[in-house]
Amino acid sequence: MIKYKLVCKNCDLKFDSWFASSKEYERLKKKNLLSCHKCNSFKVEKTIMAPQLINSKLKTNEKINLEKYNKVKKIIKGYQKFIKQNFKYVGDNFAYEARSIHYNDKKKSKAIYGRASNEDLKELKDEGIDAQMIPWVDENEN
Ligand SMILES: [Zn+2]
Repeated sequence: MIKYKLVCKNCDLKFDSWFASSKEYERLKKKNLLSCHKCNSFKVEKTIMAPQLINSKLKTNEKINLEKYNKVKKIIKGYQKFIKQNFKYVGDNFAYEARSIHYNDKKKSKAIYGRASNEDLKELKDEGIDAQMIPWVDENEN
């Protein structure tokens, strides 16, 4: 005997059902003998077994860390939104752009953001150019 968790694609009801074997399940499914207890729909399918994620102390800590990380990420994303709305993006040219603003055209100076290496930042600082490094979350990451 084998127990499957089934889900009704029609009404989203989840229920357990016993079968003689996985083949038996396939056979019943093909013959439309599997139906939802609630709405009698035949759109009943096996659910994929969710792995047990939180079953040890270590895993629980990982989960807490993930929650903390997500909270921090939310804050960072808030900064990012502000920066994107108010700063000009200069990509990898950050050090160059920061210098040209500092040395050439102070009147037109606009806040910029972009990528820079630690060395770039150190050099800029040595030259008296103010630059802040903030953590950045990739846009594609959720
Ligand atoms: Zn149903």
